[in-house]
Amino acid sequence: MAKRTKTNAKEAPAAPVERVYVPLDVAEHDSEHEEFAPLDSYERSSRAEARGEDQEEKPTIAEIFGPGGAVEKCMPEGYEHRPSQLEMAELVEAAFTEKRHLIVEAGTGTGKTLAYLIPAIRSGRTVVISTATKSLQEQLYEKDIPFLQKHFAPGLKVAVMKGRGNFLCREKVYRMADQPVLKGLDELDWFHQIRDWEKVTDTGDRAELNFLPDDSELWQRLDARRDACSGQKCPEFNKCFITAMHQRAAEANLIIVNHHLFFADLALKQDDFGSVLPEYAAVIFDEAHEIEDVASDFFGRQISNYRFDELGRDAEIAVRITKVSGAPLLKRVARMRERSRSFFEAFPAREGRFPFDRQQRAGFMEQNREAYDALVDALKSMEAEIAALPSKPEELLNIARRAMELRGELKFLFESSEGNFVYWFERRNKGVFVAATPIDVSALLRERLFEPFETIILTSATLAVGGRFDFLKQRLGLQVAAERVLPSEFDFSEQALLYIPATLPDVRDQAFPERAAQEIVRLLEISEGRAFCLFTSYSQMNDLYERVRTRVRFPVLLQGSAPRSALLEKFRNTEGAVLFATSSFWQGVDVRGEQLSCVIVDKLPFAVPSDPIVAARVKALQEDGRNAFAEYQVPEAVLALKQGFGRLIRSRTDRGVLAILDNRIQRMQYGKIFMESLPAYSTTRDIAAVERFMRKSS
Ligand code: SF4
Repeated sequence: MAKRTKTNAKEAPAAPVERVYVPLDVAEHDSEHEEFAPLDSYERSSRAEARGEDQEEKPTIAEIFGPGGAVEKCMPEGYEHRPSQLEMAELVEAAFTEKRHLIVEAGTGTGKTLAYLIPAIRSGRTVVISTATKSLQEQLYEKDIPFLQKHFAPGLKVAVMKGRGNFLCREKVYRMADQPVLKGLDELDWFHQIRDWEKVTDTGDRAELNFLPDDSELWQRLDARRDACSGQKCPEFNKCFITAMHQRAAEANLIIVNHHLFFADLALKQDDFGSVLPEYAAVIFDEAHEIEDVASDFFGRQISNYRFDELGRDAEIAVRITKVSGAPLLKRVARMRERSRSFFEAFPAREGRFPFDRQQRAGFMEQNREAYDALVDALKSMEAEIAALPSKPEELLNIARRAMELRGELKFLFESSEGNFVYWFERRNKGVFVAATPIDVSALLRERLFEPFETIILTSATLAVGGRFDFLKQRLGLQVAAERVLPSEFDFSEQALLYIPATLPDVRDQAFPERAAQEIVRLLEISEGRAFCLFTSYSQMNDLYERVRTRVRFPVLLQGSAPRSALLEKFRNTEGAVLFATSSFWQGVDVRGEQLSCVIVDKLPFAVPSDPIVAARVKALQEDGRNAFAEYQVPEAVLALKQGFGRLIRSRTDRGVLAILDNRIQRMQYGKIFMESLPAYSTTRDIAAVERFMRKSS
């Protein structure tokens, strides 16, 4: 997401800010604010007059984003006009007025959030803004929206929508208060706090609960997920936080969601289960480089042993709270749990993700047919037991519905063979996941997104490969769109030095890890720690961590040793800290200033070719007579490297060194595409130049 410099209304000095108010379409004009005089008001007033309209004229985009414009007037001192922001806002406005799609790559520092929010408001349509994560949603809602409401659109109605698992279910809280089933003192204490909070919170959003651990088991028993919700039949329906969220969204001009919720909704629409989002006219995807992966997840099918465990747990709770005479049902639930355990144990013990194609599934079923049939029968007998109950409380009907859904998933995953899907399974910690993922989502997205909607806007700092959007368009099924790569607001040639060591062996050479470790130690000495070391695999990360940590005098943090947010916090607050991490830290991480002065990447981040989804996509392209390496693997790796390097320069004053230890970027023909796609960093192969650069920075 674009760096949000100086757009926080809280940072703005009060006096001058209060005097600027620029009416947009949705604004209910507020006479207490001094109004901004549009520059071409005469011409536009005449047009309005000719149309018999007695309405206030909108300023142009240039009057808002241009030098000395409204945005500048609202900002604290020191704010500088950004030409790329103005251009982006004009492109977004044109996409709305001309009813077309738009792809725009806008780097950190562009101020892209305002550049799409203001035209979206001015369009007068209901627009969905989809961001990559919940924290980006919150950032929009807590910083940018209040700024807009204060200075531009006081009547703007905005709703944030998140997945149901983020919200409290009032009904469950009341039930648990009657029959507490709490484990330990911590849970008891948290439950009391949640019960008190339930009485005062407007949203029921767990983001308000700072004390609750991310993986709280208690929360899983209290959240508002659909699985255990009786909907309109629930006595709390009218007071329900989910109902309130839907009502707010139905009235909103802007609806802020994350990609997961958006694609879950889009996938639900095809299943006739009804949708989550209200009607909308246009969508803006921020961090749009992530949407192929998220769409693939939601248009696919997946089961895991956890889903069966949850069904068992919820069934037991439902029996207890509905007070039906449930002994026979509980027996069947226990049997289902047992059979699920033996069925999932039949998968190989090795951790990792593996293909599960038609032949492999046939082999698996030959050996485990009995366990499979037993599990299906156990689900059926739960359903039958519920159907035979004299009274059928909604909670138990829900359990029967979920059991039936799981049977459907089992059938799809083990007995069908859909052409466009890649089947795979994964063992991770205590979980076994079996899934079918679409090999290609382009047709689905074309049909459900790009064709039915007139304006879809895709933006991110990393969308273009070699200055073009062919890869993105092909992967997403987007045929016609306006396109633009905006020039950066940073002077990369001054601010960053890209170092490619001259003497390292090929990354596949046995000597590489030790030589890479020496190079990392040297670089960390020069940068005085303050570095991210980003790896393409856990094994490489762990290996290099062991080799490096005892040879440097800086605190070295390792991914996995603490939750991600805690690690980042520690990195920010520890002088000279170094972080060893893998792909999850390649994006969405923002550390500004000197604390991050060096980013070291071990290898060009090609996706692991043996990963079943990657392998299936490569095969599908090859069967189509295409060059999968050039058209898929290289562009994907280029975008990943742009993301990783993008961690370094987050403001106009940031400076630092980027190092790639993989010399294929210079040796191989395809390396040219990487170099052409990266910003115009100064480049060197000489470590002495790195020393000089860092000396200049300090
Ligand atoms: S409607 Fe559903 S989510 Fe809302 S309180 Fe009732 S059971 Fe919970």
